[in-house]
Amino acid sequence: MLLENKVAIVTGGDSGIGRAISLELAKEGAAVAINYRRNEQAAHEVKQLIEQASGKALVVQGDVSSLADLQTLVDRTVETFGRVDIMVNNAGMETRTSVLDSTEKDFDSVIGVNLKGPFFGTQLAAKQMIKQGGGGRIINISSVHEDWPMPGNSPYCCAKGGVRMLTRNAGVELAPHGITVVGVGPGAIDTPINKETLEDPAKSTALKKAIPAGRVGTPEEVAGLVVWLGSDKGAYVTATTYFIDGGIMQGSVGL
Ligand code: NAD
Repeated sequence: MLLENKVAIVTGGDSGIGRAISLELAKEGAAVAINYRRNEQAAHEVKQLIEQASGKALVVQGDVSSLADLQTLVDRTVETFGRVDIMVNNAGMETRTSVLDSTEKDFDSVIGVNLKGPFFGTQLAAKQMIKQGGGGRIINISSVHEDWPMPGNSPYCCAKGGVRMLTRNAGVELAPHGITVVGVGPGAIDTPINKETLEDPAKSTALKKAIPAGRVGTPEEVAGLVVWLGSDKGAYVTATTYFIDGGIMQGSVGL
């Protein structure tokens, strides 16, 4: 197993990509703290699945846009499992609003969850990793939209662009402590965040046509990359982003 005796935190670990990451990290031997905001039952289901497979898990409620909640998440993890080796800043949301129609509330909520959350998640996890010694891994679930516009989803793209720079800056700052900071940038993945697009036949067909691989990805495919980056095998990867997108960012009509 790649992650024996490691302790991981996954924000938004109750759904979609975060759920798959929690399960895959546990499969490789990590004890996992599953953060959720609203769906307690879903978080406990993930914990149950991990425990049924003889793994260790903890469920912690919290809003990642609150520094106090993030501190509680780190503290509860350390109280229960003794340390934090892998921090996965995964929680995210979107408003699907443009520059012209985003409200202040749209902007603040998206930036709060998708950028402030990873920023302070990185800070608090890194402080704990430095305190305990031995380095660590911080993995920010970004998006292809950290570097690729999505018209009609502007606050989201702004937040993910910030995560891109957070990953680079924190990667450089934390390298002397043996802590790697890596972005994982998924393309279109089959999760609840994309429900509306994937359930609309016209939108779904257009999306698949734009993806060179011809299909959307699975949460498990993203989780597999996170496991590798979180393990000793990923020790030399830092301050950069791994895209996992079926080629969508390089798509071309060839004309
Ligand atoms: P999802 O909606 O299934 O999961 C999002 C998770 O974030 C949920 O568990 C939700 O409860 C949690 N969350 C939202 N606000 C929160 C808050 N304030 N505090 C704590 N948790 C909160 O969607 P997903 O696709 O699994 O998204 C996971 C991550 O992957 C997000 O950062 C998203 O931007 C990113 N991503 C997804 C795709 C995709 O196509 N699905 C593509 C690129 C990036």
